[in-house]
Amino acid sequence: MQEERLVSGWKRPEDWDIELSLRPRTLAEYIGQDKVKEQMSLFITAARQRGEALDHVLLYGPPGLGKTSLANIIANELAVGIHTTSGPAIERQGDLVAILTNLQPNDVLFIDEIHRLNRTVEEVLYPAMEDRAVDIIIGKGPGARSVRLELPPFTLVGATTRAGMLTSPLRDRFGVINRLEFYTKEELAIIIRRAAGILGVEIEDEGALEIAGRSRGTPRVANRLLRRVRDYAQVRANNSITADVARDALALLQIDQYGLDHVDRKLLMTIVENFGGGPVGLETLAAAIYEEASTIEDVYEPFLMQLGFLQRTLRGRMVTDQVYDYLGVSRPDDRKMC
Ligand code: ADP
Repeated sequence: MQEERLVSGWKRPEDWDIELSLRPRTLAEYIGQDKVKEQMSLFITAARQRGEALDHVLLYGPPGLGKTSLANIIANELAVGIHTTSGPAIERQGDLVAILTNLQPNDVLFIDEIHRLNRTVEEVLYPAMEDRAVDIIIGKGPGARSVRLELPPFTLVGATTRAGMLTSPLRDRFGVINRLEFYTKEELAIIIRRAAGILGVEIEDEGALEIAGRSRGTPRVANRLLRRVRDYAQVRANNSITADVARDALALLQIDQYGLDHVDRKLLMTIVENFGGGPVGLETLAAAIYEEASTIEDVYEPFLMQLGFLQRTLRGRMVTDQVYDYLGVSRPDDRKMC
């Protein structure tokens, strides 16, 4: 279970502090995502020149691709404060009103998992984003009246793994919408080498590339694998990560050359063996492999689709032809012929 979490990008408590130290602080340190960076750099410069708040920004993409890092960088590059919260953490309208009224002019408000805001709280955001105001009710019963409070100018940065789950009134109020993409192996190798420098471990270019190739296109996974390979190098290999050391360590973690772990393999094998290759509904699949449907959707599926191993159809999930070769099992048609 632990290794599965490790690969999927969940955070383990002892890794939190390290993760903070590895976070890039400026756009220059933020590797990859060139289109997004170019746009953001332009908008940030323009907002700074005018002395205004940046327009509201929505960042979306699978976990671990750098949404939180980018939100912090935006505030840093704007030289303003940042207040960080998340959709599920804001339970009542009053909580959000308190956060909004405490912002300093031009501050960034970062709401992670913004698709999980409840609807009544979300309604506070509409006038806040559009008119820089919130309406609060004072008093109770017949004497109750609505009072409009002015807010300072601010930038909402929302992050979500599911842009499709955002209501359209909310989505429409973002002036900038950016999708983060999976990283290339070369970009991940740069991130790994930088992280190794911060962690004080020697790494050869080939070693970095070996880890990068198995990091599911995801910096958080790359950093996590690096930390586990570092443990291995420290105990068994003189604290130096060569390609061989990386390969041996990753084999010990049961991560294959695609970066897939035993949960990915179980998922694919279950579709093949129990559901004839698919299509199978998400909930049925989740129950069959004892995983949450949302974890499959957020963490496993995007990368399996990126690899071309899985397809999402209207009738459910299906494996592609390549999966039979990958798993080393025969295709259903071949079986019938035998
Ligand atoms: P998300 O919010 O999308 O889940 P994070 O911003 O928390 O992702 O990123 C996870 C970790 O990956 C960060 O702590 C950072 O170390 C690393 N990271 C993410 N994006 C980049 C990047 N573009 N360049 C360098 N490191 C990155």
